[in-house]
Amino acid sequence: LSCHFLSLLLSLLHSLLSLFPLRCNLLLIQWEEISVMDERNIPMRTYQVCNVMEAYQNNWLRTRHIARDGAQRVYIEIKFTLRDCNSLPGVPGTCKETFNMFYYESNNVNQWYIKESNYIKIDTIAADESFTQVDVGDRVMKLNTEVRDISNLSKKGFYLAFQDLGACIALVSVRVFYKKCPLTVLNLAQFPDTVTGGDSALVEVRGVCVNASEEFEAPRMYCSADGGWLVPIGRCVCQPGYEEQMDVCQPCKPGFYKASAADAYCAKCPPHSSSHLERASECVCEKGFHRAETDPRSMSCTRPPSAPENAISTVNETCVTLEWSPPRDTGGRGDITYSIHCRKCSGENGKCSSCGSGVHFVPRQFGLSAAMVMVTDLQPHSNYSFTIESLNGVSDLSPSPRAAVMVNVTTSQTVSVVLKERRSKDSVTLAWQGPDRPSGAIVEYEVIYYEKNQREQNYTVLKTRSNVMTVDGLKPGTTYVFRVRARTPGGYGSYGGEIELETSHEGKKALTLSFSVCVDLLIHCGYIKAKQDPDEEKMQFQHGRVKLPGSKTYIDPHTYEDPNKAVRDFAKEIEASSIRIERVIGAGEFGEVCSGRLRLQGKREIYVAIKSLKAGYSDKQRRDFLSEASIMGQFDHPNIIRLEGVVTRCKPVMIITEFMENGSLDTFLKKHDGQFTVIQLVGMLRGIASGMKYLSDMGYVHRDLAARNILVNSNLVCKVSDFGLSRVLEDDPEAAYTTRGGKIPIRWTSPEAIAYRKFTSASDVWSYGIVMWEVVSYGERPYWEMSNQDVIKAIDEGYRLPAPMDCPVVLHQLMLDCWENGRSERPKFDQIVSTLDGLIRNPTKLQELANNPLPSREDPTTPEFTVSTVEEWLEAIKMGQYKDNFSSAGYVTLDSVLYISIR
Ligand code: AMP
Repeated sequence: LSCHFLSLLLSLLHSLLSLFPLRCNLLLIQWEEISVMDERNIPMRTYQVCNVMEAYQNNWLRTRHIARDGAQRVYIEIKFTLRDCNSLPGVPGTCKETFNMFYYESNNVNQWYIKESNYIKIDTIAADESFTQVDVGDRVMKLNTEVRDISNLSKKGFYLAFQDLGACIALVSVRVFYKKCPLTVLNLAQFPDTVTGGDSALVEVRGVCVNASEEFEAPRMYCSADGGWLVPIGRCVCQPGYEEQMDVCQPCKPGFYKASAADAYCAKCPPHSSSHLERASECVCEKGFHRAETDPRSMSCTRPPSAPENAISTVNETCVTLEWSPPRDTGGRGDITYSIHCRKCSGENGKCSSCGSGVHFVPRQFGLSAAMVMVTDLQPHSNYSFTIESLNGVSDLSPSPRAAVMVNVTTSQTVSVVLKERRSKDSVTLAWQGPDRPSGAIVEYEVIYYEKNQREQNYTVLKTRSNVMTVDGLKPGTTYVFRVRARTPGGYGSYGGEIELETSHEGKKALTLSFSVCVDLLIHCGYIKAKQDPDEEKMQFQHGRVKLPGSKTYIDPHTYEDPNKAVRDFAKEIEASSIRIERVIGAGEFGEVCSGRLRLQGKREIYVAIKSLKAGYSDKQRRDFLSEASIMGQFDHPNIIRLEGVVTRCKPVMIITEFMENGSLDTFLKKHDGQFTVIQLVGMLRGIASGMKYLSDMGYVHRDLAARNILVNSNLVCKVSDFGLSRVLEDDPEAAYTTRGGKIPIRWTSPEAIAYRKFTSASDVWSYGIVMWEVVSYGERPYWEMSNQDVIKAIDEGYRLPAPMDCPVVLHQLMLDCWENGRSERPKFDQIVSTLDGLIRNPTKLQELANNPLPSREDPTTPEFTVSTVEEWLEAIKMGQYKDNFSSAGYVTLDSVLYISIR
């Protein structure tokens, strides 16, 4: 017993007060205080009475007042010897072999007389050692020890009394004590020394958080009647800046920090930050580095980016497209944006001033995420200077000027449309429209023409103020090229497009035609218009995938008319030359899966998995293959496999994802059977649940969640994978045809999805329960070798997978919750995540195992035990109350118990 005994009174030898003969006027021989030797020849004092020769004995011996000291239940241990009447020659039949023990509760500590009838009897005491060897005179004594208890005491204390009715007794010691639950610290909460309750009542005790800790959930425990602590609830956690070490909170060492009480341990300061003192709750950024308000404390300190690079401009009259490459140094962040500043410069003195509000930027001027902008509505024939700044989340915190690159451009203007021409054998008449928005009054137009293919050799320039001109003196039957440009006070605009005209041969009719000289611009504007489509506007490339800011809804690539567009929208095209394939690691539905390396410009080389589409594929196969990338590219979560990009412009077509060193979870667990702690397994399950929560928040239903479709990296991080549109139908060897013709992985699928294809996040939760079972059983096949038909039938009849070996009760209960028939009764993924988080924070909840009470593999401190009977086994698993049911059902040997069936 771990309980703590406190002795109140070690021996009565010096505390028994007086002898109280009830009929003292009749009986003179009473209890006597005598010195004798014990069995080791050590002298001791006893109280003896031995009036066996006379009848009607009633000899009383009473203690002084014994203080209760707050205890409600008190134990009395007595040591005594008793003579066997048969061993005493010639004693009459009145000789007794027992005596009685009484108590009397009282607030009076000096009560000299207590009426016999006021005593409450504790028990009649008999000896259980044989009496025969006992001979006090011979100094051979065999001591009897008896313990009795008295409960529900409420007064200040009590008196004990012993009544002899004619026996031969030597009372050697009386020990009075009560039990306490000792002061203890559990889950960082201190529970005080607590006196046990009366009868079998538990005393609820509130714990107090130890130094530098705070309540996470109010800590409580129960003190049991035998002095043991039971059922710890709640816990304290170390405050920021402290971590738990051996039941106390220790300050984080310099160089380490802990930001939140909810974090378990102090962590090393992230790069570019430090803590010089103990108990840091945050590390301070190095000079030149910063932390944005929304940055987690665990993130490296970062700095503003370097300037954008390789800026180029494409001028189209009064429209300029600026493009650039991202900065070489991102400052350690992924949230780079760009801002454009526009200044107009006058030709003569080179002075520049802000462009004002007349100029427009597409998609916007500030906070651009793509490295491109189009600037429209500039003045023609003007010089502009554009500054392209790169910014990130800490630019505003840095005092240094923003890194920028400058681009100078000069705009132009063309005559827009030639409306008509008339031609004869030696002349052509042209008419045109002036520019839409000329940069000043048109002074004149200039017409240039030449014989086709002879421009360099011979061209003619004509000028006119009107917008019609007849060109004479041409050769009959010859093709000429005409171009027109306008002049304003600001100078000449650009030439409009070329118009080719052939002079007529004799007698041919004149022609009329219309011609656009702004074809280029129209195409370009069409592009800009498409970009302004509200949906497309939102898409921004980020790490090779398209992010949908503000919108977190999954878009089914099926809804695209052109599946290639879905791929373009959601996956980044990667140059085949940046990929190095190293070795084959698996086989997918569409071809091999290889591992290799990817080096993108300006980034460090990373390991990747490369899935390729085997040669000879059909259009449908290509679409289906790439659909996985269109789906995966929409996700961005640490527990979802990450898409790096696709190769579609050359063959073989490839999908590039992050590399997961430990491959698929089912194979990985089988390989490492029994090697992980329960906490590690729960950690893996937590990751999968978190990935699934993200998918269900996005409105994506996976339909084939199973350990084989989870990948594991070198840090044991589990990521959900396998997103192809056709995968459930074609890819999964576990998928079987149902009566309705669909192909479904029966063992992992919920009843409503099997019966009427009701696939929802709730059916994913069912599959998640199966994954939990796979994980805890280290890759065991769900329902073992049962046939699919039998599985469907068993589930329908209410059967559920039993807890795997060493499975904590709470985990099996969570599985059972996931396997509720009613899908609305199953937990949601966010609830699963918080349940698992709770278990990780409070691992004691994982100690109770579902299939036996043996300690889990991790707990070497609790001894193992063996059982040899059904009764012992039931006691061991705290099912003692079913002993009779078992024996009446015929389960009398342990072997027979092994064959009990579930139903
Ligand atoms: P899948 O076609 O996605 O089922 O992939 C076939 C096999 O290739 C998987 O079972 C894994 O063993 C392996 N594999 C696929 N993707 C990866 C990856 N990203 N990292 C490591 N192995 C992978």
